[in-house]
Amino acid sequence: MLRTVLLCSLLLVLQPYASFGFDFLERGRRDAKDHHNWNYEDKTGPDHWPKMFKKCGGARQSPINIINSEVDLNDELDAFEFDNYDDPLVDARIENNGHTIQVSPGSKDPPRTIDEGGMDDQYQFLQLHFHWGSDSKKGSEHLIDGSSFPLEMHFVHINKNYKTKEKALQKEDGLAVLAVLFKLDDEDNPALTPIIDKLDDVRQEGSKADLDDAFTLESLLPDDLMPYYRYKGSLTTPPCSEAVTWTVFKDFVPISEKQLQLFRNVKEEDEGEPAESLVDNFRPVQELHGRVVEISRDSDNAAPSLSSSTLMVLTAFALFL
Ligand SMILES: [Zn+2]
Repeated sequence: MLRTVLLCSLLLVLQPYASFGFDFLERGRRDAKDHHNWNYEDKTGPDHWPKMFKKCGGARQSPINIINSEVDLNDELDAFEFDNYDDPLVDARIENNGHTIQVSPGSKDPPRTIDEGGMDDQYQFLQLHFHWGSDSKKGSEHLIDGSSFPLEMHFVHINKNYKTKEKALQKEDGLAVLAVLFKLDDEDNPALTPIIDKLDDVRQEGSKADLDDAFTLESLLPDDLMPYYRYKGSLTTPPCSEAVTWTVFKDFVPISEKQLQLFRNVKEEDEGEPAESLVDNFRPVQELHGRVVEISRDSDNAAPSLSSSTLMVLTAFALFL
């Protein structure tokens, strides 16, 4: 029995990161089987996850409420180096796995990596996905000073030191996830168009489609990449592996009510029932258990800034010469 549960957990972990090694048919079968093991409501909702997936009851869980007055400034949290983030994805696919909408690069897409950003290793991009609410007052997983946001996007990366996802999920530095919070805006955000235009094609759970319009990962990031919050946490879905270095950007990305509504039109299957809207796919915030959230500097100006009096002296000196 225990072995069965463990195996199920492992399959669940592998499913979102299954860009390598599994054929699509097998993956489709797993999607259908796993979906009903856990959900966001009722008897299979987040309160019950720890019974089925022990790690979900751990002390390093995500998401969390980030309280600005309690974060620590860490000067060693430097700017990220993004590699190929400005190179359009040409072979990406989008899928509805019953828990989220996920976009993954295809085999023709060269690797995208992140480096620095206060981390010791290089991490390779695996997929991005979204969490959203049934209305715009909720939806994000992370909260800032107790406030939630209508949509949160996660860029999931694997530590390049680990060859497989199974290995990475057993390591405390196995994954790096970049979290982007979206704020309601009157205007549509054109950067989201390539994804949003395809939502209708993946309305049904288990459906997949190719993304026709190339887009860059960079276009989905906020304008200001510093400061960012940093803490050690977990996957926010079962099996809640405590393997994630979390980065939550402080700056927001805009999204319109109309665009959010298109996410809310996506469906999930309910056993024996008509398909329901896939909404409120966010886990409630978890206890910090003594963890401290850090924040980076505002910008990556490595040189110390000169005071105005120093500048005046230097200017006078230059004029004198
Ligand atoms: Zn997520």
